[in-house]
Amino acid sequence: MRMRKVPAEYGIAVLCVALMTALHELLVPWLGRAHNVQFMLCAVVVALATAGTGPAILTAVLAFVISESVFVGPSAWSDLSQPNNASSALLYALVCALIITLGSWHERRARRERTAHARDVLMLELVTDCFFVVDRQWRFTHVNNPALRFFGMNREELLGRIFWEVFPTSVGTPIEALFRQVEQTGKAGHAELLTPLINRWLDLRLEPTGAGIMAVFTDVTRRRLAQDAAEHNAEFLGVVADSVSVLIAYLDLERRYRFINRRYAEAFGFTPVEAIGRTHAQLCGEAAYERVRESLDCAFAGQAVSDEMPLCLPELGERHLLANYRPDLDESGNVRGVVLALSDITERVKAELALREGDRRKDEFLATLAHELRNPLAPILNAVQLLGTETPARGNARSIIDRQVRHMARLVDDLLDVSRITLGRINLRRERASVATLVSHAVEASRPLIEAAGHTFTLQQPREPLYVEVDVVRLAQALLNLLNNAAKYTPVGGHIGLRVAQEGSGQVLIAVSDTGVGIPGSMLPRIFEMFAQVDHSLERTQGGLGIGLTLAGELVGMHGGTLVAHSAGLGHGSRFEIRLPLAPALAAQPASAAAPVPDEPPVGRRVLVVDDNIDAAESLSLLLQAEGHQTELAHDGLAAVEATARFAPDIVLLDIGLPGLNGYEAAMRMRSQGSSRPTLVAVTGWGQQQDRVRAAQAGFDLHLTKPVDPAVIMALARNPKTPALQAYAL
Ligand code: ADP
Repeated sequence: MRMRKVPAEYGIAVLCVALMTALHELLVPWLGRAHNVQFMLCAVVVALATAGTGPAILTAVLAFVISESVFVGPSAWSDLSQPNNASSALLYALVCALIITLGSWHERRARRERTAHARDVLMLELVTDCFFVVDRQWRFTHVNNPALRFFGMNREELLGRIFWEVFPTSVGTPIEALFRQVEQTGKAGHAELLTPLINRWLDLRLEPTGAGIMAVFTDVTRRRLAQDAAEHNAEFLGVVADSVSVLIAYLDLERRYRFINRRYAEAFGFTPVEAIGRTHAQLCGEAAYERVRESLDCAFAGQAVSDEMPLCLPELGERHLLANYRPDLDESGNVRGVVLALSDITERVKAELALREGDRRKDEFLATLAHELRNPLAPILNAVQLLGTETPARGNARSIIDRQVRHMARLVDDLLDVSRITLGRINLRRERASVATLVSHAVEASRPLIEAAGHTFTLQQPREPLYVEVDVVRLAQALLNLLNNAAKYTPVGGHIGLRVAQEGSGQVLIAVSDTGVGIPGSMLPRIFEMFAQVDHSLERTQGGLGIGLTLAGELVGMHGGTLVAHSAGLGHGSRFEIRLPLAPALAAQPASAAAPVPDEPPVGRRVLVVDDNIDAAESLSLLLQAEGHQTELAHDGLAAVEATARFAPDIVLLDIGLPGLNGYEAAMRMRSQGSSRPTLVAVTGWGQQQDRVRAAQAGFDLHLTKPVDPAVIMALARNPKTPALQAYAL
């Protein structure tokens, strides 16, 4: 390409010289030969303008050679040595050099400008922004491709046409106003405008160019709509946040408030303007901040936390608040702030307190009721033992009263125990005992009921003894409840099974199953609730208060065990499973405290019975006398002290709640008299650890919790030191 171009340009030089020579020769008749230099210079200028610097130099040289050879004549070259000719030649060379230098400098500059222009145009085509230029008459002089695409027109449709004619809808709009402003002020203008008709948002920049106005614009409709939506959302959220009763705030990473809703501002007594950009410590003091600091630390560590706290709010006073702290995470999961939502739960807390108080009062009432009901039952039970059985009718009547009073006593005892558990007034006397002992106690006690209903009974036990660390009396009571229920809720002639099995290395299962009425699935989850009863009329006559299972469940739970009920539904029998943790195996096993009281040879003792319930005292006294003991009665503390001094009893059965001196004070006086040292036995309704400690301090030897089984009293009277009473010793 370059090889072909060079001869063509230099050919122009030769052509220029030839043409100038021919022209010169043509004009010689009119101009003479004196102007050859001007023709030569013209040839150089033409060559320079059309072919460039190199051809111009060649032209200058060729023109000189031809001029010397053709126009001047054969002597021209030798005449050059003459000073005159030499200086003419030099001057010619200088003028040529000057013309060529100026010409090439001018051409270089023009080329640079052309290149720059081409680059600018290319760049403007490359940029994604739309771009156009209008001249002073508002005619389009330049439009780039993105602008053409935006207008949906081609270049020919736009170039040379007047802006306002192409876009008449722009007239009278903010677009025209901006163009006119730039035209009048000669300063750049910038605005975000909504274009009429096509309804699009443009970011429009206008730049005066001297010859018109250059416009650069981008379609920002999407950004603008997103921004509008965001603003709308923020406004909407603000309205929502202000319309809820929850106190809402947003804290940034510096723990400065970035947002608070109306309720928050009202409650804390500051305005959003005061709060935004400041910390809680700055607004409410360090002490107030310290109270929430720990929760805030957790939330800023990325953990959602909630916290209930009483708070004194400047505008609302003492309130109870539920505070939820929720971290606000960015897309990468980093915490960028924390949302704080405070709910005023004062009314709920008050209602809960009232409910709890009501519940506590109910428990107290039930405890007192059971306690009061139990008091008359004890003397009746004692008295029944003394009734004669001379005739069959009397014997029958006695056993009916005995059975019914025992049933009633059992119900009241259960009620008493449940109340004690719910009020936390029951203490377990745990000891190591074999499961077999536990089971045998319960089975023995339930046998009369099972046999009376004509049920068959099977007991499955492992050969190896299993040991548990339990209060034998209490757990036997729980198991007895299950066996009695099985007997009660199984129609006559059914089957009851008791299975003991080891589960894994640390657990024992005691399961009571029956072929009885079963329990509907809907009742199973509620069966252990207080007073829960399945309403099947068949066994209603057998039913109690609905507290037996509650008591059994609570007692098992107190031993770290579980009690669950299974039934395939009504008519399909039931299975109750107790699971207890096993005690570690030991070589020697201590005797159970609840082991049957061994029979002692009868010894007549002197027993002082002290109770303000005269019937209770008398019936017990009669029972003791029937066993061959000598008794004395007292119904208040002072009389008891006096009787001890006078009667010198071996045993004093001393009630604690007595008129005048209470049982503790009476016991202390008896001990201080020092004349005799009877076995002092506290007989009380209050069996908590602190009651036992108090009794021990007052000088009692044994502590029996009401209701007291008459058999225990009899065993005690026979031998107060019997190991069987170890469980009651202080
Ligand atoms: P209750 O004094 O009524 O027997 P419990 O708490 O012992 O109270 O039992 C609650 C209810 O559970 C009973 O009323 C009875 O409906 C049901 N129930 C308990 N044991 C059984 C069982 N073995 N078979 C069928 N129903 C039972």
